[in-house]
Amino acid sequence: MNSKNLMLNTICTHLGEVKDNQYKGAVSPIYTATSYAYENVDVKRYPRYFNTPNQIGLAKKLAALEHAESALIFGSGMAAVSTSLLAFLKAGDHVVLQKVLYGGTYNFVVEELKRFGIDFSFTEGLSEKDFEEKIKPNTKVIFIETPSNPLLSITDLTMIAKLAKTNQLITMIDNTFASPVNQNPIDFGIDVVIHSATKYLGGHSDILAGAVCSSEENIEKIFSLGKNLGGSLSDYTVWLLERSIKTLGIRVKAQNRNAKKLAKYFSKNEAIDTVYYPGLKTHPDYELAKEQMRGFGGMISFELKSDIDSVEFVNSLEIIKPSMSLAGVESTIVSPAKTSHALLSQEERKKQGISENLLRLSVGIEDKRDLIADFEQAVSKVKAKSILI
Ligand SMILES: *Cc1c(COP(=O)(O)O)cnc(C)c1O
Repeated sequence: MNSKNLMLNTICTHLGEVKDNQYKGAVSPIYTATSYAYENVDVKRYPRYFNTPNQIGLAKKLAALEHAESALIFGSGMAAVSTSLLAFLKAGDHVVLQKVLYGGTYNFVVEELKRFGIDFSFTEGLSEKDFEEKIKPNTKVIFIETPSNPLLSITDLTMIAKLAKTNQLITMIDNTFASPVNQNPIDFGIDVVIHSATKYLGGHSDILAGAVCSSEENIEKIFSLGKNLGGSLSDYTVWLLERSIKTLGIRVKAQNRNAKKLAKYFSKNEAIDTVYYPGLKTHPDYELAKEQMRGFGGMISFELKSDIDSVEFVNSLEIIKPSMSLAGVESTIVSPAKTSHALLSQEERKKQGISENLLRLSVGIEDKRDLIADFEQAVSKVKAKSILI
């Protein structure tokens, strides 16, 4: 099957299938062996070497989804992030990272890179000048994440790719929030695309996994370190992830549609102060999002009016569940100030634009009418309670 001729949903459903030649079953069999007959010097098959039949098949599917030459599947998003960064950085090197990053990536950088003698800088903002002013003679990598968490600001992929080319740097992106359905950074000149497959790729809140997609040459470099660090994914979960990705296209498109409608509804709702969604014309990065994204994604953040207690509101929801994670078929909600950004001071949170009443909604595939009804009953409940007090 030649991926170049296939469209999104066909790639999701079929590409990289492991053929069941014995029984002609319609789905990939799982090869669970950790021990294979020795083939030759080049092929030593072993799950930690990322080369079992299921690992190879799923990697092909992901590479096709991200318009990449090659891919590797990891045991978590952080295994993919840490292995990719370390593969391109050595003692004495420097990496520029964008200001707002996933908390785990931020922690890895500030807590671990020093011990390898690797220096780092975070940008002040997301403009070309913000990145340029942090580049040093020993900079080797630029790391970005767009849309960002939780305010869904957009980083300009073309600008980053150009800047990196001028300075001969490798560019890496965490593409988790967009998913390959909405954004293919390689088409804009970004080198390495990383996913927490725990989120949209898995999509059912029951898989921990990660992925990296890039050129053959870059993947070889990441593989070479990855086999030594040992972050590959068990074939049982590889199989489950392959099964999940069959519906990636239809899931994410349903989430895009729901989120766009909800964002519009929220922007006219009197219980809400501000809505952050890159698909709204009022979002400061709307034009940029339109240029580099096919869909605007399933993540929305919003601030409730100050007279509505956000904790009470979340506790009053009946369909939308409180959850730290995101991107499942079920809608979930979280307070960044009380979870992902709880360790920052209130002042620092304010500086980053994360108010106490900000909520981040991961929109699922439920019917929009039921999600709106859930929102409305929760607001009414909180308001009735505050009148009683
Ligand atoms: C969850 C997440 C990660 C980390 O992935 P794990 O699978 O939890 O290791 C990285 N980046 C983003 C944007 C995420 O949401």
